Amino acid sequence: MSASRDALIAEIRATGTLRGLPTGHFIDGDHVAGLSGRMLDSFDPGRGAVFARFAAGDAADVDRAVASARAALAGPWRDMAPAERGRILMKAAELVRRDAARLAVVESLDAGKRLSEAEGDIRSVARTFEYYAGCCDKLQGASLPLGRDYVGFTVDEPVGVAAQVIPWNYPISTAARGIAPALAAGCAVVAKPAETTPFSALLLAELLAEAGLPAGVFNVVTGLGREAGAALVAHPGVDHVTFTGSVPTGIAVMQAAAVNVTRVVLELGGKSPLVVLADADLDAAASGVLGAIFENAGQICSAGSRLVVERSIAAEFIARLARAAEALSLGHGLDNPDVGPVNSAAHLDRIAAHVERARANGNIIHAGGRIADAASHGGGWFYRPTIIEAASPADPIVQEEVFGPVLAVQVVDDLDAAIAVANATEFALAAGIYTADLTKAYRFARDVDAGQVYINEYFAGGIEVPFGGNRKSGFGREKGIDAVKSYCKVKSIVARI
Ligand code: NAD
Repeated sequence: MSASRDALIAEIRATGTLRGLPTGHFIDGDHVAGLSGRMLDSFDPGRGAVFARFAAGDAADVDRAVASARAALAGPWRDMAPAERGRILMKAAELVRRDAARLAVVESLDAGKRLSEAEGDIRSVARTFEYYAGCCDKLQGASLPLGRDYVGFTVDEPVGVAAQVIPWNYPISTAARGIAPALAAGCAVVAKPAETTPFSALLLAELLAEAGLPAGVFNVVTGLGREAGAALVAHPGVDHVTFTGSVPTGIAVMQAAAVNVTRVVLELGGKSPLVVLADADLDAAASGVLGAIFENAGQICSAGSRLVVERSIAAEFIARLARAAEALSLGHGLDNPDVGPVNSAAHLDRIAAHVERARANGNIIHAGGRIADAASHGGGWFYRPTIIEAASPADPIVQEEVFGPVLAVQVVDDLDAAIAVANATEFALAAGIYTADLTKAYRFARDVDAGQVYINEYFAGGIEVPFGGNRKSGFGREKGIDAVKSYCKVKSIVARI
């Protein structure tokens, strides 16, 4: 179904919702009602109001979805040539592009994000399916050098049923970056989207079915994390779990998976440092820092949420950022403001509590530092873009992830001090540096503990670039070829001849 963006927005403005949103799970190739009949509300974060309802899945729905995925592994999917799998994924990319307007509007409404960002996410989803479409027939094992009397080789087999537990900040792009490589490897998938953003995974399921994916290969169960999510990651019929979310939930997921010795990839939180040295192009650095923390209202695991700035430029650079932050407009995602709402009322309270503690601890608030007046923003959940100069490297505003539009600033004397500060939290997801000196940039890249390092452009790269964290930020890599490998199990075969 393809509809124009303006017609969809007009429908939402007139009715507060959209027609045709799925209300059940997607199991065995079709939408199905939840077994318990219980439903949950989905909110429009820009208005703080319910716009749709969806099924509250539980262990019984998860059983059904996992059984459907297991059965699909033994069906036509198993016997399909890898090139044919690739054609299905390529077709999915085409269908995502066809329905881009609807997908972006639903994502903006459900997650709260700016429509232009949601449109970018949908382009990245199409690109993700396209990229992994090309991988299906290029998964190659190795030949093993055992001498003349043996033939030895390895085969990359699909790991089996892969569970995807998806967060609310990038619902459709996180779903796609897990689903596409899993399907490329020949796995079947059961996805559990976050309870505040259930719809885009369901729409993706429709498109994959239309693209020719056999029934049961991709299933979606919606519902609460502690019900549907917990049942999925503990299910003995699941062979692999990719979890993207918070550290405490990641620990619980790993513990639940351990009971069945299920493989896990954990993409957890971050407090990523972005270093700006005095010799940097300060125009590029300022816009890079603002984008790194205020895009998606700061709800990005790899957000550049700590600015580490060289002392000689610090005062002027912080003042410049503060002026720019104060000038940013807030508004409903569909109105494309500079910064949209945060995803839920509970999350708004969490962000506010982080900042109030920072204020009480004597940190200097250079911009923002407050909840935006709801009435003047349509009743939604908005936090003013905030910049806080840290009083101490041990302060929680430096050490803890806020996951909102809140930048912590640390001032340092030189590159060595910047590296020491960059590495001094328990997270190690991303890191960035702005400098004109490539030697300094590469020294930073060598010495910083992070899964990805950005030089002179924060968030540079695309689906080709492996992504993941170290330490409390998790382990395993998504994106790139590495992601497909994580959905494979290597079998070695040796013959005496
Ligand atoms: P969360 O951990 O509360 O929820 C994430 C997902 O897990 C949701 O789908 C939720 O329903 C589910 N869940 C909750 N409890 C569960 C349980 N016991 N068993 C199984 N599933 C369960 O996290 P959140 O608040 O939704 O997301 C924000 C966090 O996610 C932040 O800390 C952020 O840094 C992190 N995140 C990381 C990445 C990454 O790629 N590293 C990307 C996005 C978000």
